[in-house]
Amino acid sequence: MEDRAEKVENFRREYLEINTYNRPTFCPECGGVMVFKGVGEYRCEKCDCQIFDDYGKVRNYLEKHHGATTAQVADATGVSQKSIRDMLKEDRLEITTGSKTFLQCEMCGTSIRGGRLCPKCEVNYHRNLEAQARMGHKSGYSGFSTQKPAVDDGSKRFTRDR
Ligand SMILES: [Zn+2]
Ligand SMILES: [Zn+2]
Repeated sequence: MEDRAEKVENFRREYLEINTYNRPTFCPECGGVMVFKGVGEYRCEKCDCQIFDDYGKVRNYLEKHHGATTAQVADATGVSQKSIRDMLKEDRLEITTGSKTFLQCEMCGTSIRGGRLCPKCEVNYHRNLEAQARMGHKSGYSGFSTQKPAVDDGSKRFTRDR
């Protein structure tokens, strides 16, 4: 019998280490929580600004520059060559298109083309991080762009000035 909860927890810890790629947690502009949109793209839930993590930057670059070398990609994106090599090793970058190797999502076991999680589980994973980031917000951060101090009465509150 396997302890599924423990398995997921172990995986989550491991995944966190290899998959952060400088994931933006908070918006550098307004401090809002960055929400994962897919393939390395994040949007601030407050001011809607868009940020890419290292994986997103590398992927964007490779989309426009097919066949670029690791050194060229590192140069253009500012992502270290080591990180790029890690992504390749992890098969996050689908450089070999047409490959029929089927991998399995490590969370739910569904077939995936690359990486370690299916898109659904990857989104869930990020939703968890975002929820944690919001919890962290409650104590401490008060610089909301509306300039109103956040009143934390436990209920979710969206303030609008106009
Ligand atoms: Zn923002
Ligand atoms: Zn999955």
